Amino acid sequence: MTNTKRMDASGIDVTPEVMKEVWATVVHLCQAYRAEVVSLPVAPALVPAALRSDLSAYDFSLPRAWPEVLTWLDAQIRAHQVHLSHPRYFGLFNPAPAPFSVAADALVAAYNPQLAAWSHSPFAAEVERHLIKEFATRFGFDRESADGTFCSGGAEANHTALLCALTTKYPAFAEEGLRAIPEQPVIYISEDAHHSWVKAARACGLGSSAVRPVALDAQGRLSLDQLAEAIRADRQRGFSPCLVCGTAGTTNAGIIDPLKEVAQICRQEDIWYHVDAAWGGAACVVPEFRAWLQGIEQADSITFDAHKFLSVTMGAGMFFCKRPDALHQTFRITTGYMPRDAAGLDIADPYAHSMQWSRRSIGIKLFLPLAIAGWDGYAVTIRHQTDMGNRLRQLLAESGWRCLNETPLPIVCFVDPENPDPNHAELIAKAVVASGSAWISPTHFGRPCIRACITNFRTRESDLQELVARLNEARDRLGATNG
Ligand SMILES: *Cc1c(COP(=O)(O)O)cnc(C)c1O
Repeated sequence: MTNTKRMDASGIDVTPEVMKEVWATVVHLCQAYRAEVVSLPVAPALVPAALRSDLSAYDFSLPRAWPEVLTWLDAQIRAHQVHLSHPRYFGLFNPAPAPFSVAADALVAAYNPQLAAWSHSPFAAEVERHLIKEFATRFGFDRESADGTFCSGGAEANHTALLCALTTKYPAFAEEGLRAIPEQPVIYISEDAHHSWVKAARACGLGSSAVRPVALDAQGRLSLDQLAEAIRADRQRGFSPCLVCGTAGTTNAGIIDPLKEVAQICRQEDIWYHVDAAWGGAACVVPEFRAWLQGIEQADSITFDAHKFLSVTMGAGMFFCKRPDALHQTFRITTGYMPRDAAGLDIADPYAHSMQWSRRSIGIKLFLPLAIAGWDGYAVTIRHQTDMGNRLRQLLAESGWRCLNETPLPIVCFVDPENPDPNHAELIAKAVVASGSAWISPTHFGRPCIRACITNFRTRESDLQELVARLNEARDRLGATNG
């Protein structure tokens, strides 16, 4: 590499001319990835030793030419990741990123807005406030009083909910902590709820045994009878029921808990009601799907992840809270060193209103695709993925697979009804992933099964046919070796 392409004299900086070339290269690499991802194996070989050996060449003792490092990085990322952008990634709720979200992310990186103090990035902070109000209204909260914050993801949003519930329910908690609460607080989640609740309980000092997993009903939903009974038994034993989480779209099987009925129990029992709608909450965007979430408007707080069904680039969690003072009570802090430029204005400083301190703008990478597509544009995408889920159910049934979960959301848990081997689902999933043609996973829904979820707005019927062909092939091959 010639010296003109190298760094100039000022350490990490480059000249505007070089930066222009850098951008051109990055744009080219991103475009090439988008065009070629469909021909790549969906999942990589897992070779930690090789990766570490490659990286050991970088001891950073000498500078390198940027084109060499940039193209090497691109090739490494490309070769060593599960391609969420591949239309046959049928995995966890990880989307192909919306093009305008990628563009917004690049713009945000260039401006690097700091979302700790409102006064450092007033526009970026107000974008987030605006989006929180818009989505809160869609979930049925009152626009005026609704509050919330962007966060890293659903796990942080759930953790935030637990902190708000503890702070609101036990006024001494913020100052004196759990030791000020005479009766041990406990929380209730369905057996199939997200395991971030266990981490949240630990991180809040409650311990994982304060999490009460409530048994499921016949459809795999949180059982109302079991919930009522668990609350009764806990009260009798001197525990303090603090929070109930209803899930709108379980990670495992897309099951929607009876949100309305859980709300009623929480109201009667004076318990904080949280709805974890990390993925399924996207139904609020499509008018005819809104009824799936009925009851969510009665929640005290809601978790939603824009980096799931809304295809925003990673790290886009949202937390909504009906009580306008709860976040303030929970995270209020005063320092001598944080900027006071906005003192007296009607604003909330994010650092005193949420878990994180310094952080990047998260709202802008949701704002750009939403502003361009509009709610209706997003609805088209969500309807399409839901249609693909229904079509996949049909195609699987036609090939003799049995679907186990009942949900309107595009996630299918299925088995080969002819094969009682408890390892069969795992072996099939493994064979399909090894083929490089698709990514699916084994899970458990009443019994071991295979899970396939539509997460990519570019997934078409031909991709579903290809998946089912690979599944059938794996079933035949396994049958042949066993029989
Ligand atoms: C994904 C998920 C979470 C965790 O969210 P992250 O964004 O991974 O932190 C929580 N709850 C549910 C229901 C989820 O699907």
